[in-house]
Amino acid sequence: MAQDNARSAHTDRLIADAVRQRQTRESGYREQALKIYPWICGRCTREFTHLNLRELTVHHRDHNHDNNPGDGSNWELLCLYCHDNEHSRQLDAEAARQAGISQGGPATVADRAKNTTQQTMPRQVAHNAAHKKTQHTKR
Ligand SMILES: [Zn+2]
Ligand SMILES: [Zn+2]
Repeated sequence: MAQDNARSAHTDRLIADAVRQRQTRESGYREQALKIYPWICGRCTREFTHLNLRELTVHHRDHNHDNNPGDGSNWELLCLYCHDNEHSRQLDAEAARQAGISQGGPATVADRAKNTTQQTMPRQVAHNAAHKKTQHTKR
């Protein structure tokens, strides 16, 4: 009995250590990235403050979370939505590329990908810019 308890306590501690190490590593590069870069989403240019900073996430440009150079060259600050978009876009592109190869029509796939970015991106940026302008004229 006593031995079982000791063993499970040991396992609990190992798991807790692993979780803590992971959290330390993640908060480490997040803090660094937030120090290096302005608190603005790299896609929709939404600005962040301490109040909503939780929604600003660190994206790894090469998608390798273990690649964390100190100069921040592998990091990009993205809001939750754009970060989500960025990853599903990667998956879409990959799926489309594979589908395109089997159908023999890669040009159509490229055109479709171009259209999606052109339609979604500038509108978000324009909206943000308009919002900023309003704030400035008020002052
Ligand atoms: Zn964004
Ligand atoms: Zn990411």
